[in-house]
Amino acid sequence: MATAKVKTLDDLFLNELKDMYNAENQLLRALPKMAKKAKTEELRDALETHAEETQRQIERLEKVFQEIDQAAKGKTCHAMKGLIEEGNEIMEETSDDPVRDAGIISAAQKVEHYEIASYGTLVTFARNLGHNKAADLLEETLNEEKKTDKLLTEIAENGINQEAE
Ligand code: FE
Ligand code: FE
Ligand code: FE
Repeated sequence: MATAKVKTLDDLFLNELKDMYNAENQLLRALPKMAKKAKTEELRDALETHAEETQRQIERLEKVFQEIDQAAKGKTCHAMKGLIEEGNEIMEETSDDPVRDAGIISAAQKVEHYEIASYGTLVTFARNLGHNKAADLLEETLNEEKKTDKLLTEIAENGINQEAE
């Protein structure tokens, strides 16, 4: 077993922050690829808009690192790697456009849910540690992830799933 480097809640907070910094950077590269494969304009737009949002979320994370006097540094997020891999897999395995779009939505929502869970935890940790400015910044991102998840549900319900049937 590796020696314990994460001893305090402060360490855990920083660890999770690095994880999300890496996760968002992975996503920044993956989202445009998903958008390109999406056939429905609504879905393509949503993914492109969220790619731009992701860029701002990365900058927001850099502000959070600053807030706690730490260098902005990533640590491989294995979960995001896996989620993106699954997204690529489903895009390769689908031949029919509406079915592929439904698959892209499914993959994108898994990503958003991972982010919602992660940012939810980060906000709570930040508040508990008294980093209120950092908590506010993280909460802004949390809300964007929730909004994106809802939008993807709406797009799915507005027709892609029916078309895929
Ligand atoms: Fe994000
Ligand atoms: Fe992670
Ligand atoms: Fe997101």
